Amino acid sequence: MKFDLNFAEFTNVIVKEEAEVICLRTNAKSEHDVDCWKQVFCRKNSTTLNIKRTLRANIRYMFRQRLFCLHGDRRHKGKIKTYSGCGLTVDIKIKIVTRNTIKKDPEVKLYPCIIVIEGSHNHTTCSASALRELRVLLDTKQEFFTYFEEGLTTAQASRRHNEKQDFNFCDMANNSTNPSMKSVAYIRDCWLEEHHGTFQFQFQFSDPDIARLLLSPLPPTPCGRGVMVA
Ligand SMILES: [Zn+2]
Repeated sequence: MKFDLNFAEFTNVIVKEEAEVICLRTNAKSEHDVDCWKQVFCRKNSTTLNIKRTLRANIRYMFRQRLFCLHGDRRHKGKIKTYSGCGLTVDIKIKIVTRNTIKKDPEVKLYPCIIVIEGSHNHTTCSASALRELRVLLDTKQEFFTYFEEGLTTAQASRRHNEKQDFNFCDMANNSTNPSMKSVAYIRDCWLEEHHGTFQFQFQFSDPDIARLLLSPLPPTPCGRGVMVA
């Protein structure tokens, strides 16, 4: 099989497997479960999936989402070097469970979620540069939120994460579990926005603009020395 679908968190039952199509059923029963399933899939297969379309409370489905590989995002064509025209798509549907649907499809009670994975990556997923391009996973983001709640700065949080995880050489390059300093700074901005308002309203010495103001030299006087004006 092209993809690792052996999850500890979910039971994935392969219904059909062909060269370019894998159809499976799983025990994801809600949108939250689907988010968890995607996290496990992305982590195990070193993949980042972008959302193409989400439908909720459809007549036939409780939830439906179409996703595609980050490297196949046409909006990036000609603009971002990571675009490779990758054709991997994932279609996720959660069927509505009623007496009628159970009668027609008895499996729907245990496995209401149907997932179709079509195509394959047209790029490497294991090189250091490919791992560096992966989006930060939600559980990694949550871990960084706990570091910031403890009062750590961006650099301190990054260091703590490295010490805690005991990464091997390959894990070190993986941005989804070991985010770059730029990604950690972005996570911190998200945390500040979520917990304390927007970044620009924070009065902290760690704020680079305020630090620059505080550390900038005073304007010179005629005799060449800075003076404090009351
Ligand atoms: Zn791809």
